[in-house]
Amino acid sequence: MAPENQDQLKVLVVDDEEHIRIAVERILRRLDCGVLQASNGEHALSILQEQDVAVVLLDLKMPGMDGMEVHSRIREAGYQVQVIIITGYATLETAIEAMKKGAFDFIPKPFDKDHLALVVDRALNSIRLEQERARLEQERQRALLDLNTEKSRIRTILESLPNGVIVTNTQGRVVLMNQMARQILAGEESPIGCEIGECLEDGELCDLIRSQSVAAQSEGSSYELQLGDDSFYMVQTNPVLGEEGECLGAVIVFGDISDLKEMDRLKSEFVAKVSHELRSPLSTIHEQMALVLQDMLEHEQPEKEQRILSRAKEKTKGMLSLIEDLLDLSRVEAGSAFNDVQRVDIRQTLESQVDFFQDRAAEKEQELTLEAAGEEWPIVEADPRAMESVFGNLIGNAVKYTPEGGRVAVRIGPVEQGRVRVEVQDDGIGISEKEQSRIFERFYRVKNGQTRNISGTGLGLPIVKGILDDMGGSISLSSQHGQGSTFYVWLPVSESSVREGN
Ligand code: ADP
Repeated sequence: MAPENQDQLKVLVVDDEEHIRIAVERILRRLDCGVLQASNGEHALSILQEQDVAVVLLDLKMPGMDGMEVHSRIREAGYQVQVIIITGYATLETAIEAMKKGAFDFIPKPFDKDHLALVVDRALNSIRLEQERARLEQERQRALLDLNTEKSRIRTILESLPNGVIVTNTQGRVVLMNQMARQILAGEESPIGCEIGECLEDGELCDLIRSQSVAAQSEGSSYELQLGDDSFYMVQTNPVLGEEGECLGAVIVFGDISDLKEMDRLKSEFVAKVSHELRSPLSTIHEQMALVLQDMLEHEQPEKEQRILSRAKEKTKGMLSLIEDLLDLSRVEAGSAFNDVQRVDIRQTLESQVDFFQDRAAEKEQELTLEAAGEEWPIVEADPRAMESVFGNLIGNAVKYTPEGGRVAVRIGPVEQGRVRVEVQDDGIGISEKEQSRIFERFYRVKNGQTRNISGTGLGLPIVKGILDDMGGSISLSSQHGQGSTFYVWLPVSESSVREGN
């Protein structure tokens, strides 16, 4: 006997005549199935209870429980089997009746071997198909369940994030907004489908989001958003890219930085207070040292003492300029510096700054020039001292970081789209790419052999940037280590005039 295959479907032959059961079993051997036998209805039902049977070949006329009765019990119990009725001509009508009640087919006796095999094979195939359908359905249900679980998991995570998250589509319409974003914007009940401008009042941020919603090439950007007096958010916007790299919209993340801002404010306030307290005693010390030094010179005191005092005086001068820079920076950060806004003629400011630095440039045998590209005299709404500070710092640095015999050129570009560009170019020591991103940080100074003997505070450029940010201007630079630097300043122009003779 061939070993029983676990996956083989089973056929149960129910007939009171043994030779028929044996004959049927022999015929069914050519099919891929196992065969069981039962000589009466009760036996058949007990086998069905214990084993998985796919097809029942059922004789109608049996002593005791007849075939119809067995058939009804099978249906009542809900077994997933196909029943094929074996019937003599006398019971043909009953067989048809059984078909109406769900039997798969019937085979009249005496049966033809091939016909029997064919009908049983069809019944087995129908069971196999049904099993396959059930398996696929189960898989589909499981996949749906997984999908639902995944979706609800992502939704739960998004809703519990401490950051606000908004996703927009390519039209800049909101397709997702989590709980925290709704709280931050304190907006509409259901913002889904709204244009971003309807949920966010800050026009500049809306424009940024709109541009990121369509720009597949662009990188993400950050934006500092202030809501009310003391809520600050760092907003990161990034395009959402599809598999082909196409832009599907933008994702916007809001991080609360109010506490950091407050800490920063307290720190600046502290630095400002300390600097303020130190300034006057230090100036007094500096002045008195100058007086003593003068006295020593006049009375021809020993050179050694003079040198020591002179070095001490230089150090206090350095400390004083640090204090001045610290005070300027904290005022810029607090928004309380340079509030005396007037119409400033930028060309005049640059002329006087270039004039001011001519002596220092001459000491280093440098050429310091001012060039104007156009005939315009751009007027900027600003505090004149702020403009002096910006260009004083940049021209001062250019002279300071350019070796003897170098060139420093200040250029005013033409007014374009309401802005004027001023360039401060030198052919000095230059700044490596790595350092360029850091020189606008407070106290950052490039440290190398060329800068070792150049004194400074590391606060000039942060002051310049603070002033420009405050007035809607901007600054950038192009530089290469050892090849000089060019700083570009853009200023919003309120008007410009053309003067004759200039
Ligand atoms: P500092 O008081 O040190 O000059 P800044 O904030 O003005 O402070 O500048 C920061 C650093 O940037 C400087 O220490 C210097 O290393 C570098 N730097 C600024 N301007 C120039 C320049 N024109 N050429 C080369 N390096 C420069």
